Amino acid sequence: MKTEIEELLRKKEIKITANRILILELLLNTPHSLSIATIEKALPWADRATIFRTLKTFEKKALLHAVKDDDKPIKYAICSDACEVNYHKIHPHFHCDTCGNTFCLYDYDFRLPKLPDNYTADKYSLVINGICSNCQKHNI
Ligand SMILES: [Zn+2]
Ligand SMILES: [Zn+2]
Repeated sequence: MKTEIEELLRKKEIKITANRILILELLLNTPHSLSIATIEKALPWADRATIFRTLKTFEKKALLHAVKDDDKPIKYAICSDACEVNYHKIHPHFHCDTCGNTFCLYDYDFRLPKLPDNYTADKYSLVINGICSNCQKHNI
């Protein structure tokens, strides 16, 4: 796993540090997006400023993206392989109303509907609310 992570950092031209490896490992091993506070809890020795800077660096290099669900604070998730610095593959997000986690639906394409004339879109996102597969299992 370590070498894979180092490989990924190298590919995205991010300098390898111990904290960056650990933060990336945590994000890769979590199936849903994470807030800074959650990352802080998982890596108690890393201070918040370091975590924040690392996430910003990863975001700039298209390694992760901010997930815009209705929750505050913002959560972050790993980008899909198709993402590059100037191109992010748009995918919907699924917010589970039971556990509160938000998942990236990378394989589900979604396109911006045709806009009225003279409207240009800068950003758009789709959040689907419901119950995730994990919570469904516990409900039965
Ligand atoms: Zn859930
Ligand atoms: Zn996502």
